[in-house]
Amino acid sequence: MDIKKKVIKLEDIKKDADELQCPVEKSLYLITVFLSGPMCGRCFPCSMGCYEAKLILDNIIAGNSSYEELENLKRIADEVLVSSLCKKGKDTAKFLLEWIDTGDFEKHINGICPEKVCPEYIEYRIISDKCTMCGDCLHACKLGAIHGEKKEQFISGYQPFEIRQIKCTKCGECIKVCPEKAIVLLDVKSEEPVGV
Ligand code: SF4
Ligand code: SF4
Ligand code: SF4
Repeated sequence: MDIKKKVIKLEDIKKDADELQCPVEKSLYLITVFLSGPMCGRCFPCSMGCYEAKLILDNIIAGNSSYEELENLKRIADEVLVSSLCKKGKDTAKFLLEWIDTGDFEKHINGICPEKVCPEYIEYRIISDKCTMCGDCLHACKLGAIHGEKKEQFISGYQPFEIRQIKCTKCGECIKVCPEKAIVLLDVKSEEPVGV
C-alpha cells in the first residue's frame, strides 16, 4: 500500500495562524505546528530555538511570564533568523519577530490581552443585579459552566445564576444570548468590563 505522509507547508500553517486574533496565540500556534511537522531537526539553532520559544510562549499564554523571558524570546528568534540553514526556519523566525513587534507581548506580560481572547486574561461574569433568571444562558453553555435556576412564578428560593470559572472555556456564547446584558467580559487584572 502506498501511504504518503502528508506534507504540512509552512505557508499553510501561517495562513491558519493568521485566522487567530491575538499575536501571542498566532505565534504559539505557528511554532507548535512547525515543531510537529515541517521542522526537520537537521540544524540546532532552529530545532532548539523553536523548542525554547514554544516553552516561553506557553508561559506567556498562561499568564506566567516576565520581561526577561520576552527578551529571551526575541534573542532566540533573532538567532533562528540568522543561523537557520533553510528558508522554513528563517521564515518562522521572521513571522515570530513580526508578531513580537506588535507590542502585544509586552501587554500580556502586564496582564492584558488586548484582543481579549487569551483565556487566562479574561473572565465572563454574571451581574446578579441585572440578571432576571430567564435561563437563556443555561442553554447556550454547552459545557455546563453556568449554574442557576430559572425563575418561575409563585416559587421562591432560587439558586442565583453564576459562571463556574473552572469549567468556563471563555467561548463567549452565553454573552450573545443574554437579553438583559447581565453577562460581562472582564479583564482579570483590572476587573474592568471590556467591550465585546
Ligand atoms: S532551519 Fe530548516 S534545516 Fe534547520 S531544522 Fe529548521 S527546518 Fe530543518
Ligand atoms: S463563556 Fe462559554 S463556556 Fe463560559 S459560561 Fe459562557 S457559554 Fe459557558
Ligand atoms: S441569560 Fe442573562 S438574564 Fe437570563 S439567566 Fe442568564 S445571565 Fe440572567
